[in-house]
Amino acid sequence: MRIRFWGTRGSIATPGPGTIHFGGNTSCVEVTTDAGACFILDCGTGARALGGALMARARGPLSVTILLSHTHWDHIQGFPFFVPLFVPGNRITVCGPEGSARSLREVLSGQMEFTYFPVDISQLPATLTFQELGEGTHEMGGARILAQYLHHPAMTLGYRIEADGASVVYLCDHEPFAETLSHESVAPGDDAGLAHEGDRRHARFMADAGLVIHDAQYTPEEYPAKKNWGHSTYEYAVDMAGAARVRQLVLTHHDPAHDDHFIEDVEKRARRYATQRGHDVEICFAFEGLEMTVAAHAVEHLADAPPAAQADRQALVGIRILVVDDDPDIRTLAKRALSQDGHIVLEASTGREALALIDAEAPDLLVLDLLMPEQGGLEVLEILRSRPATAALPVVLLTAMDDEASTRAGFELGATDYVTKPFTIPQLAARVRACLTRGGPRTT
Ligand SMILES: [Zn+2]
Ligand SMILES: [Zn+2]
Repeated sequence: MRIRFWGTRGSIATPGPGTIHFGGNTSCVEVTTDAGACFILDCGTGARALGGALMARARGPLSVTILLSHTHWDHIQGFPFFVPLFVPGNRITVCGPEGSARSLREVLSGQMEFTYFPVDISQLPATLTFQELGEGTHEMGGARILAQYLHHPAMTLGYRIEADGASVVYLCDHEPFAETLSHESVAPGDDAGLAHEGDRRHARFMADAGLVIHDAQYTPEEYPAKKNWGHSTYEYAVDMAGAARVRQLVLTHHDPAHDDHFIEDVEKRARRYATQRGHDVEICFAFEGLEMTVAAHAVEHLADAPPAAQADRQALVGIRILVVDDDPDIRTLAKRALSQDGHIVLEASTGREALALIDAEAPDLLVLDLLMPEQGGLEVLEILRSRPATAALPVVLLTAMDDEASTRAGFELGATDYVTKPFTIPQLAARVRACLTRGGPRTT
């Protein structure tokens, strides 16, 4: 597989004398298989120049697949300027995660309404198809495409492209599930020490990949002030790649405030960090025009990938969620986060009240506070898991404690996810949605 970076910047395009080397265009990566299939990872402003290059190279009608991680601006703003869309005969397939209220087509049409752009999406001459993806394995263009949810304040997918005996994994925008726990517990070549199941799943998704392209927008010094914004540090990305035996790591989604000198310095720090931690991984920071070839390797195939789950927004409307927390402010915030997605929210302020409501109302998912007077969240979870009717009920634990012991205890008792307070509205909505869609359709 061949890879070329057309956009490496996060958040907003940042052209200027300070970003000449690493580039000012937002996220866009071209992946071409040996058989000639073309995948485009994200459609940030870098997609404009890529579209021109594809047309200049084309010997006939083009067929390309755009894999969108999500639809934040910096990942879609190049779409209306992607020239192949304006040429009849070209076939463009746009894939991305299902959002919440609107379809992928509606979201991309939104930025092309006449208020913002002179050409309506329905006027584009190319043949345009949309495919909303869930987690799992999809076959496209002779390649195996695996998708997995990331941790970001929006529904966001990471992609693993397997073709030609090689694999390339793209993980933007993502932030650690439990950042403070990853440094001490992770060992080279082994993800078992990670405390949070989300981080373990993240490491497993990139296992043995020839190339991983990972978000590293913030330095470790910047991260605490940017927690919950949905981005990683180089330390986290290096630790995950090291644990997953990744051979090459390219860090990207550069912060608009970081100029070339700054990024060069961070690149050196990232390499030093990998050496200190004993990780045998080649590291560089992405720049516009960076080209790479990922050769075939013996262990590139992710064997235990789940089957494809097609996204189905309608199936999630009217889901009943019980929020259990003794703090009324948290219940109000959770209710706001979940009702905007069309969920019906029930509330309980104690464990006892929650268990009675579960018997009476049989909710589809529980958001459960860990620390409550009388009966704590872990106690309630233990009771639920011991009863056949609620043994498989998805439970998202809410906690102010980001410590290893309670995180492990939660997962060992069968928590589906573990969310640390303070959380933001889009973050909780995305985490709950991922729990509801993970592993195929609901069985209740
Ligand atoms: Zn982004
Ligand atoms: Zn984003």
